[in-house]
Amino acid sequence: EDLFGDNIPHDVSAAPSTFADVILPVPIPRMFTYRVPGSMEKSIGIGHRVIVQFGQKKVLTGVIGKVHQKPPKDYQTKAILEVLDDQPVVNPLQIKFWFWMAEYYCCHIGEVMNAALPSGLKLSSESKIQLNPNFDPETSEFPIDDREQVILDALEKKSELTYEDCGKLLGIKSSYLIIKSLVIKEAVLVYEQVKDKYVPKVENRIKLKAPYATSKEALEALFEQVSKNPKQEEILLKYLQEIPVFHSPEINEKGLEKKIITDAGLSPSSLKTLIKNEVLEEFKVIVSRFDHLPIDDREIHLADFQEAGLSSIKEQFGQKQTVLLHGITGSGKTEIYIHLIREVLDSGSQVLLLLPEIALTTQIVGRLQKVFGSEMGIYHSKHSDNERVEVWQGVLSGRFSFVVGVRSAIFLPFDSLGMIIVDEEHEPSYKQFDPAPRFQARDAAIMLSWLHQSKTLLGSATPSYESFYNARTQKYGYVSLDQRFGEAQLPEFHIADILADKKKNLLKLDFTRIMREKIQEALDRQEQVLIFQNRRGYAPYMSCEECGWIPDCEHCDVNLTYHQYSEEMRCHYCGFKEKVPRACPACGSHKLTTVGIGTERLEESLSLLFPEARIGRMDLDTTRSKYAYQRIFDEFASGNLDILVGTQMITKGLDFDRVTVVGIIDADRILYFPDFRSGERAFQQITQVAGRAGRRNRQGHVIVQTRRPDNVVFEKIIQGNYPEFYLTEMAERKRFFYPPFVKNIKITTRHKEAKIAEKASRHLTNLLKEIAVKKIILGPERALIGKIKNQYLYDTYIKLDKAGNSPAIFKHEMKQLLFELNTQKEFKSVRFVVDVDPY
Ligand code: ADP
Ligand code: ZN
Ligand code: ZN
Repeated sequence: EDLFGDNIPHDVSAAPSTFADVILPVPIPRMFTYRVPGSMEKSIGIGHRVIVQFGQKKVLTGVIGKVHQKPPKDYQTKAILEVLDDQPVVNPLQIKFWFWMAEYYCCHIGEVMNAALPSGLKLSSESKIQLNPNFDPETSEFPIDDREQVILDALEKKSELTYEDCGKLLGIKSSYLIIKSLVIKEAVLVYEQVKDKYVPKVENRIKLKAPYATSKEALEALFEQVSKNPKQEEILLKYLQEIPVFHSPEINEKGLEKKIITDAGLSPSSLKTLIKNEVLEEFKVIVSRFDHLPIDDREIHLADFQEAGLSSIKEQFGQKQTVLLHGITGSGKTEIYIHLIREVLDSGSQVLLLLPEIALTTQIVGRLQKVFGSEMGIYHSKHSDNERVEVWQGVLSGRFSFVVGVRSAIFLPFDSLGMIIVDEEHEPSYKQFDPAPRFQARDAAIMLSWLHQSKTLLGSATPSYESFYNARTQKYGYVSLDQRFGEAQLPEFHIADILADKKKNLLKLDFTRIMREKIQEALDRQEQVLIFQNRRGYAPYMSCEECGWIPDCEHCDVNLTYHQYSEEMRCHYCGFKEKVPRACPACGSHKLTTVGIGTERLEESLSLLFPEARIGRMDLDTTRSKYAYQRIFDEFASGNLDILVGTQMITKGLDFDRVTVVGIIDADRILYFPDFRSGERAFQQITQVAGRAGRRNRQGHVIVQTRRPDNVVFEKIIQGNYPEFYLTEMAERKRFFYPPFVKNIKITTRHKEAKIAEKASRHLTNLLKEIAVKKIILGPERALIGKIKNQYLYDTYIKLDKAGNSPAIFKHEMKQLLFELNTQKEFKSVRFVVDVDPY
């Protein structure tokens, strides 16, 4: 009867509405559906950035994840306010990758988006705009319309406006497109806090006006004419010298940077006259921020063992998606990468090479740049926002088919990756600790590679146990290189017993006799020395000799590190700092001493032991500024330093001919760290540092200081017997349920009151035990550092193996549970931090 009732049928002729699911930067685990206004239907798709209203007040930028025709059941949709891009900035494969990451690492899709987009592509209503000081409405070639003028007028009165302010001024919800237009017209600059947004780099250029560039007669006549004016003549000659139009008139179109003329000392006013007289024409172009380096097309011939390795890699890629290249330090892995990259690029696919943060500033990048030149983009965390947006857009436009980058480079908009190479794949810095997504870039790269149906090559001299395990169980292919290239010999090891030397009074300022001798010998031969200690500052802490008082951080459960240079004690967790007290606050004694060894103190000791040597230091404290690392690096490379002391920064990628002695001050600090990975890490770090010695034909020496010279790890390192050490360690990992035999998840419960943190954590642990089928749940336990920045921390550990419910189902239920816990009144302000595959 419905058919004939008084129900007026819906207007069936109207086209069904289009909806877009938008990923927004909010901590809610889903996308949000918005209506696409008819006017936008044609210009919208997956990967476009849009402006939408969220809740009552907020206006947010998001990325479209899906377009469909299904109206949501449970709420009224709002319309999209604006579309920011003509072309998508993110492709569908990336969106898939984001979703995988949110799922696997148990975080929100908005958090992944936040990590993925360089901040130059993100906008929020808190972003601020200012007048561009270089903007002159008189000379601007772009007309400013009425609404734009309103904003410019307001900026004359108030130097800063937020996007929201601008919207209010104009009486509209979203002012993004108007501001975008003002940015393009170079009238305003966008700031978020102090960071500037992406502003293209514009170069002022000049070129010859039409007839002069194309007609020889016209050009001759012109010279005839300016011969009376030598200043103008000089400018034109300079122009023709740089841009020889008579060989090929089309190069005139490219023009010449105006600055080149004025920098050459030629008259700016004559230049102006030439422009006014329409001999030269002025124009602007958007140029790259990256310098173009000369290409080095010298062919490198691989050694026989390298050639064999290369063909083995290619052969194994026939059956396996991932191959582990286990090549000792100096075996020439980089040269093998170069051959592979070339082949993939020639086949028309893209390549991504991941490097650990620190290695990016070293030789390997220079080497690659020489080979690949402007085809190669570099994605580095020390690059500015603008530079990062430029790489992003370069990948989108196809300008960069090859990118070398840090872990966040996995988020670049590749659409046809042929290969991902993860160099130094064992490096812990591939893991992101904070904020979410807490991903492992190596593991994520393998997933990304799979989405592209491409290949992953993992390279290391000391593979992670996870990768080595996967290679041994045939999941990955495996290729090993066990020779160094050329004449280079492996270094000779000396295990120096700290306690024995101390007894015999041979330990001087933390240096054993053998270490001092080897350093002296190297200095005598004009060779270089690296000294490694993974602790910055002067000393780990101070202590009162009378009562044993040790200063600790007010906000964290850690001792303050003593920094002598600044006469301060600093917390390396929260940044808290304090002046060194004159007397012990507990007993008043003046006998305050330092305990332990930091790089700052080593630098001082070395200068006392080797007064004639030139000593440098490389650690977080000395390399904070953008170019500091490069400066110290260059100084050492050019031979202006004899000894370089440093933290793990010196263990990677340094390839210097003249380093023959490497000293490790305290191997015990690495070996006896309370973590199941400490054995693996010790083997890796010591082998990596040692690999810096004797890279050419000189015999290298590595001195390892320890209080326990009988530890088997030393024997295995000396033999270079990684597999055997691995096997003994794996037996233990298997027995005690550690990765790679199980997958770990750590949930840290955080609150400013210890009691609430503990209670929430206990509650959580019990609930997890209920949903876990045959999973091991441990805890809660006070975290290793139980208080950081005034927050108390408790850990719950989950060990996932294949027994019982699937990891994916378990994770799903766990996420649900955490979400619910946070809605309970008691635990509303508790933070649960989920870390999948924690380090
Ligand atoms: P790894 O990364 O395996 O430690 P590198 O790739 O840095 O080793 O190579 C060590 C050194 O040997 C580098 O200086 C490199 O330029 C040089 N080298 C390696 N293979 C070749 C080759 N086939 N021809 C010339 N030089 C090579
Ligand atoms: Zn005291
Ligand atoms: Zn602190």
